Amino acid sequence: MAKNSKVCNFCGRNERDAGLLITGIGVNICATCTEAAHKIIEEEFRRGKEFRVDSEDIPKPREIKEFLDQYVIGQDEAKKFLSVAVYNHYKRVSQEVETDDVEIEKSNIIMVGATGTGKTLLARTIAKKLQVPFTIVDATVLTEAGYVGEDIESILTRLLQAADYNVAAAEKGIVFIDEIDKIARKGDNPSITRDVSGEGVQQGMLKLLEGSVVLVPPQGGRKHPEQKMVEVNTKNILFICGGAFDGIEKRIASRLNTNVVGFRDKASVSIDRNNLLQYIAPQDLKAFGLIPEIIGRLPILTYLEPLDREALKRILTEPKNSIIKQYQKLFKMDRVELTFDEEVIDYVVDKAIEYKLGARGLRSIVEAIMIDIMFDIPSEHKDKFNVDLEYAKDKIEKAGSKMLA
Ligand code: ADP
Repeated sequence: MAKNSKVCNFCGRNERDAGLLITGIGVNICATCTEAAHKIIEEEFRRGKEFRVDSEDIPKPREIKEFLDQYVIGQDEAKKFLSVAVYNHYKRVSQEVETDDVEIEKSNIIMVGATGTGKTLLARTIAKKLQVPFTIVDATVLTEAGYVGEDIESILTRLLQAADYNVAAAEKGIVFIDEIDKIARKGDNPSITRDVSGEGVQQGMLKLLEGSVVLVPPQGGRKHPEQKMVEVNTKNILFICGGAFDGIEKRIASRLNTNVVGFRDKASVSIDRNNLLQYIAPQDLKAFGLIPEIIGRLPILTYLEPLDREALKRILTEPKNSIIKQYQKLFKMDRVELTFDEEVIDYVVDKAIEYKLGARGLRSIVEAIMIDIMFDIPSEHKDKFNVDLEYAKDKIEKAGSKMLA
């Protein structure tokens, strides 16, 4: 070896093995070590990168609700709870240093409401307004460590991804956990029914809700020894949970009945039997199979109203991106003005109710009506198309049983 041959001062390889060497004052570094150093710096930068929410920019609860009103019909109660919780979350994460001993605890939320009443839509719409990382995960894919399915930590993988791997930002983010009711314990008595899929997952989730430092696989998937983990502290992450809790009304009703009997005059307490969810209380969630520790970590409990005919009608036409407006926009791109007779709107709502599809069905019903004309009209030189009742009926009758699938 030539006497003055240079070596990389980091890995010790000589110029011939290392290839390019960059020379500084008295030291050299090879390309591989430069890259490694760059990665370390980037990672440290991400970890420590400041993530501030400017308190000037925090949307006020009323402002959040007004925004939600543009996209979500009704559900005033849930909107109000969400708006306040998100606002408080911002205040918590924007507070600079603790100046006194009062620590504002985060208030995770649980929303109970039948499927298709707007829980996910609320969460998604809130996300549009947010300046913090946000993600939606489905509780049904989660399983206890060691079982087939996704580890609980994968919830945070998604949040990290939403935060572009800025850990500090993810640590102030919001996670919407959908279908939380699906991880309920199947029986009321824990000693009789110990099902791993339910209670084990709840125990795992508790760790996240409580606020702890969790090791997260940044690329997701199952944990394995070679994967480098990222530490994420969940102390400031806001969790919003949603679930249909099918059949929970029965438990609410039986609780209300027992409470009412022997409690003042039975007749003086009027209960709206058509919407029992509005009386939901933490003990109903417990009776359904959520463990008390989880319930304790979801202190804000709110509900969604069932959607009646009037609400379904409004959903079709009113929201900023209502289904009808979406089709009109599609047609407009072909320079066709699309209109619907009022009876068609009523008919679509009737069908959604008949097929028990709720709001979720509105779209597929309209799609079934529109498919033929969407196929034809781009090739026909028309500038107008009106959907009348006869046309709509004909298309739906032809689609028939397919709609029930
Ligand atoms: P959930 O999460 O409660 O099961 P979603 O939010 O996914 O229900 O609702 C399904 C679809 O129904 C949404 O994409 C939306 O088009 C419509 N929808 C449901 N509820 C509402 C509502 N309150 N306002 C407007 N659209 C709604």
